[in-house]
Amino acid sequence: MKAEIVSVGTEILLGEITDTNASFLAGQLPPLGIDLYWVSQVGDNQARIVEVLKRAWGRSDIILITGGLGPTEDDLTREAIAEMVGEEMRVDPALLSKIEERFARRGIKMSPSNVKQATVIPSATAIPNPRGTAPGWWVEKDGHIIIAMPGPPAEMLNMWHTETLPRLQQRTGGAIIFSRTIKLFGLGESVVGEMVSSLFSSSNPTLGIYAKSDGIHLRFTAKARDQKAAEVMLAQSEVKAREILGEYIWGVDDDTLDSVVGRLLVGKGVSLAVMESTTGGMLTATITEALQSVKYFKGGLVANSAEALTAYGVDTNLISDYGVVSAEVAQAMAEAARRQLRADVAIGITGVVGPDEVESKTVGTTYIGLDNGQEKKTIRGVYPAGDRSRLKRWTTNAALFELRKMLLELT
Ligand code: ATP
Ligand code: MG
Repeated sequence: MKAEIVSVGTEILLGEITDTNASFLAGQLPPLGIDLYWVSQVGDNQARIVEVLKRAWGRSDIILITGGLGPTEDDLTREAIAEMVGEEMRVDPALLSKIEERFARRGIKMSPSNVKQATVIPSATAIPNPRGTAPGWWVEKDGHIIIAMPGPPAEMLNMWHTETLPRLQQRTGGAIIFSRTIKLFGLGESVVGEMVSSLFSSSNPTLGIYAKSDGIHLRFTAKARDQKAAEVMLAQSEVKAREILGEYIWGVDDDTLDSVVGRLLVGKGVSLAVMESTTGGMLTATITEALQSVKYFKGGLVANSAEALTAYGVDTNLISDYGVVSAEVAQAMAEAARRQLRADVAIGITGVVGPDEVESKTVGTTYIGLDNGQEKKTIRGVYPAGDRSRLKRWTTNAALFELRKMLLELT
């Protein structure tokens, strides 16, 4: 079954609000085995909504619309659907009394404009909306389904989960689609693409490669008759991906670097401290995203000058001998953080975030020092100059990725 999403609203069209309804719905369709081919946005204009709906009707089996079900003049979704299918809108007395009751319960007088929210057309049944006054419409005609839901995300979500999804599940009892995402760090998108090129030829599961802020994601999508069969297929793909990329893989599906590192720290009973300069606190903020972080994270020191480094216990001689941006100082930062905050493992980060060079080291030069009391390790990276916040994000992720490796080896 082919589906199309239509988001109605001038605010969406003009970019004043983000179309989160379409993103949400797009993610809901694959597990149902429904193929989403188009997403459109259209303003609050009846003629143009009709035009979009006609096009959708011509090429899709299911049309999912959100927005424009309110009571005001610019809420035109019902009118547009009625016009497109050539049917007359009429007030449904049962719906009307429900809406009247809702107003009465809240002690508010219903305005005459709300009457249009109680209308249907012969091909439509109302979809209940316990969160608002506007019922949705489920329209079936000539083998097509049109589903109109309210724009406010809370109302749409509730209607989706309680009404629309169960009805769609009944219709699509066929194949289901499941995905598994494998997350990597330390390789570029094109390199990963070349390395896994042999996996691309499979048509089921299919493979997609995406560059994300926490590295590269490989997404395997399997179509199968049930969840168990899909999981077997995905597990086989994952084994192949791990054979090729094992050391770069840090997580799957909903894993985040902070949660993966957090699980390891809790599991090994190890505490953590950090001293960071270029990341300006981002590493500390990211570590504390993990739910259990209070159990293992002693704290983060942010140093933005040689004075701060010295105050936090980094030897001034090291700074004058090697410079602030050096492997030696990154190492000393980790060591000082570990000592000062009495942690088992620590990270030190120094580098050049720009816009200017420091100590004639180019923008993007980064040193990450790790220290677990027995072993010390320094990683040097040069991130392509440019976006400051991306450099900080990359450095934060690189530090967590390297920490993960060190923790895995720790006995
Ligand atoms: P209302 O009864 O509130 O008028 P409605 O069904 O007519 O509901 P709209 O008027 O189109 O919906 O939108 C109401 C509000 O819902 C918007 O101002 C916006 O905040 C939110 N909204 C609408 N469409 C979307 C969308 N596609 N994604 C995210 N939010 C949306
Ligand atoms: Mg509205």
